[in-house]
Amino acid sequence: MIKKVPMPAQKIPGDLPGELIDQFGRKVDYIRLSITDRCDFRCVYCMAEDMTFLPRDEVLSLEECARLVKIFVSLGVTKVRITGGEPLVRKNALWLFNEIGHLENLNELVLTTNGSQLEKQAQDLKNAGVKRINISVDSLDSQRFKSITRTGDLDKVLKGIQAAKRVGFENIKLNSVLMRGINDDEALPLLEFAIKHAIDISFIEEMPLGEVNHTRESTFVSNADTLKLLQSKYTLTPSTHNSGGPARYWQVAGTQTRIGFISPHSHNFCESCNRVRITCKGELFLCLGQEDKVDLMPLLRQHPDDDMPVIRAILNSMSIKPKGHDFDLRRAEPAVIRFMSHTGG
Ligand code: SAM
Ligand code: SF4
Repeated sequence: MIKKVPMPAQKIPGDLPGELIDQFGRKVDYIRLSITDRCDFRCVYCMAEDMTFLPRDEVLSLEECARLVKIFVSLGVTKVRITGGEPLVRKNALWLFNEIGHLENLNELVLTTNGSQLEKQAQDLKNAGVKRINISVDSLDSQRFKSITRTGDLDKVLKGIQAAKRVGFENIKLNSVLMRGINDDEALPLLEFAIKHAIDISFIEEMPLGEVNHTRESTFVSNADTLKLLQSKYTLTPSTHNSGGPARYWQVAGTQTRIGFISPHSHNFCESCNRVRITCKGELFLCLGQEDKVDLMPLLRQHPDDDMPVIRAILNSMSIKPKGHDFDLRRAEPAVIRFMSHTGG
């Protein structure tokens, strides 16, 4: 039994709320923290081919990341997802996982990764206290995988998935973005792969974030259509499973696999939003699909020994958390200029 690390005593003054409740009464208890904008892949729906990444001193240090996580946990956050860019290409990322993995009151430390580094790191991540891993795989055909990711090696990712299973991660989930004319014929093969390996899978509708080489409308695949297709081959029953996120789940009868659908277009999930996102620059974004944000990096750097200015800024940000995104596929320009790899998916 691993001992939980008590939180440092940070007394929140009585005049401030001790938890994060937004202007619509939604409780925020989940943060997604991007620890790098860099990645070893260049997925066509996520990044441009030619990306300029941030200089190192404009990115939160790992110590600043750990400090932020501790502050959020002291404000009632119980789930933290580490993401990116590709979080596992950040040098010494493991230090951060070890630093926060066993914090008292943090129920779930989870990770989203492209899987390329998992074969090497799965065991250390498990030891550090990571509870669940989401691994992005959009194709099981190595040529096509290469063309979607531009640089990725499917074999490495498959070995990463095997390693995660081997070291005992129980809740592994694949994330797949289907694009019309590119990989929309892989919904069934991807599900079959998930069933064979007794893992879950989520289908994510492509979101209009950042300027890429295609219009999002041209590649859009509705999750409603994907569901219909999968139902033609499998018996799916609605599942009460709730991962604390926007996905709606279905159980595949006679298997251990659940299918999640993250459908920002066909099923808006904003009314139950419980999360905020922090970019690797320390920007606290209140909504994935809107520009409302608070810059935490200057406060962290100006007050290295006093968390109160950061705590106040986070509490105040609850008054500007928007009601929801307004993604519209018919708009020519992206809804939000920043890439998903900047905000952290
Ligand atoms: N590099 C890691 C990975 O690929 O899992 C973590 C970061 S990535 C930005 C997180 C998730 O966002 C991935 O599952 C990816 O497929 C998804 N994603 C990226 N851009 C997207 C977009 N425009 N629409 C929908 N999902 C997107
Ligand atoms: Fe990298 Fe993940 Fe974006 Fe693909 S989806 S380019 S793996 S950050």
